Amino acid sequence: MPVTERTLLGPGPSNPYPEATAGLSAPLLGHLDPEFIRVLDETSERLRTVWRTRNPMTMPLSGTGSIGMEAAFSNTVRPGDVVVVAVNGLFGVRMCEVAARYGAEVVRVDHEWGQPVDVDRVLAAHPSPAIVAAVHAETSTGVRSDIGALGAALRGHSPDTLLVADCVTSLGGIPTELDAWNVDIAYSGTQKCLGVAPGLAPFSLSERAWERRVETPPVWYLDLGLLGDYVRGGASGRAYHHTAPVAMVASLHAALGRLLAEGVPEVEERHAAAGARLRDGLTELGLELFAAEGFRLPQLTTVRVPEDVDSVKVRAQLLEDYDIEIGAGVGQYAGSVWRIGLMGHNARLDRVELVLAALRRVLGR
Ligand code: PLP
Repeated sequence: MPVTERTLLGPGPSNPYPEATAGLSAPLLGHLDPEFIRVLDETSERLRTVWRTRNPMTMPLSGTGSIGMEAAFSNTVRPGDVVVVAVNGLFGVRMCEVAARYGAEVVRVDHEWGQPVDVDRVLAAHPSPAIVAAVHAETSTGVRSDIGALGAALRGHSPDTLLVADCVTSLGGIPTELDAWNVDIAYSGTQKCLGVAPGLAPFSLSERAWERRVETPPVWYLDLGLLGDYVRGGASGRAYHHTAPVAMVASLHAALGRLLAEGVPEVEERHAAAGARLRDGLTELGLELFAAEGFRLPQLTTVRVPEDVDSVKVRAQLLEDYDIEIGAGVGQYAGSVWRIGLMGHNARLDRVELVLAALRRVLGR
């Protein structure tokens, strides 16, 4: 008997993403089965469409979003390389740690949490870094940074610098335009706006980043040269690298199919509308939004916990009485901020009204 009726992929018959769960429960194909290879190829093509890129090296890596971050730095950082990281939340901090482990001389550009990345400050940090890295949608604070502006400015400032963008929470929720924004390396996760179980890291690498990659990265599993032979096919065709998680790929394939059927701009617009209504509703409840105005993510709204309210109690009551999970804040904001996600299938006006009604009740407003 299940412990709870709750489900992240949507409850019972109203699950609007049945394809994603169907992908998980479909009969398993062998990882070398031509039909699976077709599904894998189509998944990569679908990722290119949502990410608006023609990068041939676009694919789902086996692992959660963090493995995308690990692949980005392990394949591009040579010991002593300067890597400028824009830090405006937890995942920027993680980027610094990962890059340092591969020998980077990390130049950390700290921003106040809740604020977007300041392009001028990032560029001023170093005249010609090997890499500049930033988080597009900072999940710890609910802030969107302008990666397009960063990419454009970087091309003028130091054209050889590679740009790494963390798109874990942005892909499928807000526009992500890798080619137009001059992004060289991007990674994402399946469990956010794509509405799939956690377990894959969509990944994309530009041709120039491919040419400049580290010949033999210190991590065998994430060696893009080896993975490229598997995913794209090398001189002698596709070479076995590891056993792909076929059920997860089938699930991602199905969810991307669903997303493309609705339309990428339409899905992004649905997120925008839900986020806007949530922000309005929270303000009507007398709550104060945390992220800087103009840079608020529709898929993740951050709000300050009122001073007279017990944050843990409210979250527990929402979960127990209404099956609604909202996140606590992160780091120094653990007890003073809530993070309300409206991602993928949850980015709908009916869900917003449900959250607002439940919050009103629990807060007694
Ligand atoms: N980057 C961002 C912006 C994230 O939100 C997350 C996870 O929430 C990660 C990286 C790490 O992804 P994962 O937890 O799937 O490894």
